[in-house]
Amino acid sequence: MELPNGRAWIELDQTALAHNVRVLQSLLPPHCALMPVVKANAYGHGAVLISKALYDLGIRAFSVATLSEGIELRSAGLSGEILVLGYTRPEEAPLLHRWDLTQTAVSPDHAARLSAMGVPLRIQLKLDTGMHRLGGDCEDAEALRSVFALPNLRVTGVFSHLCTADSRSPDHQAFAHAQGALFHRTVERLRAMGCLIPQTHLLASYGMVNYPELGGSLARPGISLYGTFSAKGDWLARPVDLRPVLTLKARVAHLHRLPPNTSAGYGQRFTARRETRLAVATIGYADGLPRCLSDGVGAALLHGFKAPIAGRICMDQTLLDVTDLPPIAPGDEAVFLGRSGSLTISALDLAEQAGTITNEIFTSLGSRLDRFFV
Ligand SMILES: *Cc1c(COP(=O)(O)O)cnc(C)c1O
Repeated sequence: MELPNGRAWIELDQTALAHNVRVLQSLLPPHCALMPVVKANAYGHGAVLISKALYDLGIRAFSVATLSEGIELRSAGLSGEILVLGYTRPEEAPLLHRWDLTQTAVSPDHAARLSAMGVPLRIQLKLDTGMHRLGGDCEDAEALRSVFALPNLRVTGVFSHLCTADSRSPDHQAFAHAQGALFHRTVERLRAMGCLIPQTHLLASYGMVNYPELGGSLARPGISLYGTFSAKGDWLARPVDLRPVLTLKARVAHLHRLPPNTSAGYGQRFTARRETRLAVATIGYADGLPRCLSDGVGAALLHGFKAPIAGRICMDQTLLDVTDLPPIAPGDEAVFLGRSGSLTISALDLAEQAGTITNEIFTSLGSRLDRFFV
């Protein structure tokens, strides 16, 4: 195991990941398998590490957003099906073939252009059931059916995406039900027209909790797999016991003792009102610590105590007010996301403080961070 000797790093909890896989699987009907979403470097957690751990837990299907993400996983030796959820230029068909990736056809036209490249490919056809992002028009069954007759393509599945699954509002619930009904009606219609559709899937994290009955043969959990949901107050029809997989830590590099009325940091944004001890932590906004947590909005945990962020977060470093803490020494660990003693800074806390969702907090975690299982 690599030691946590870096300046700033991410510790991953394998037991928590295994727990989340078990809990998420238990939400679904028995015939519905997990196809975890490991796009955006597994929501900042480390795509290769997370995917290999998931493979060891029995997962055999993965989804990513881009061709490059798929190639990264395959070159790292990952087996199993890898579905590219986003658009790939037809010109890249040779790469899809060479790396044994399944490409989403974002429309029947996209499928035709992939087919015309003359390379044997596995694809899954996306249906637009109301989000109006990617997918073919469900009302145009002829165009959808034609995809199944295209040369060079093997269609291994049909899928869609819900866009209001996190909302309790009656309108949004009705919309999700309508999307589900349209999806399944379209799949049945295509099957009745002779199309062979091995896999169907519709649900991401919120759909799995709130509409598990709409699931097909696969489900695509992203944020929930990493042990949380997107925002406080989002609707969950039932409690789900997930555990955070990630802890974000940095070192204390240096300490200061400031007399009263001394300022610190860019723009002198921090002023000591009393005799103050400051710790310099080796993490900054370039590592994904949101700069809007400056000036005491955010905090870090040291030895189980909370130290407010002092002044402006810098690109690579952050000042912490450790005046009320027991003695701190250079080399000590500061937790910016996760647990220290009896205190926790959750991704939901951080997202709320930063005015965003946990997905953005995670996917902003920088490439300079070391990532490893502990
Ligand atoms: C990102 C993504 C997911 C995962 O969504 P979560 O809300 O993070 O579970 C599932 N499906 C598609 C098509 C996505 O783009």
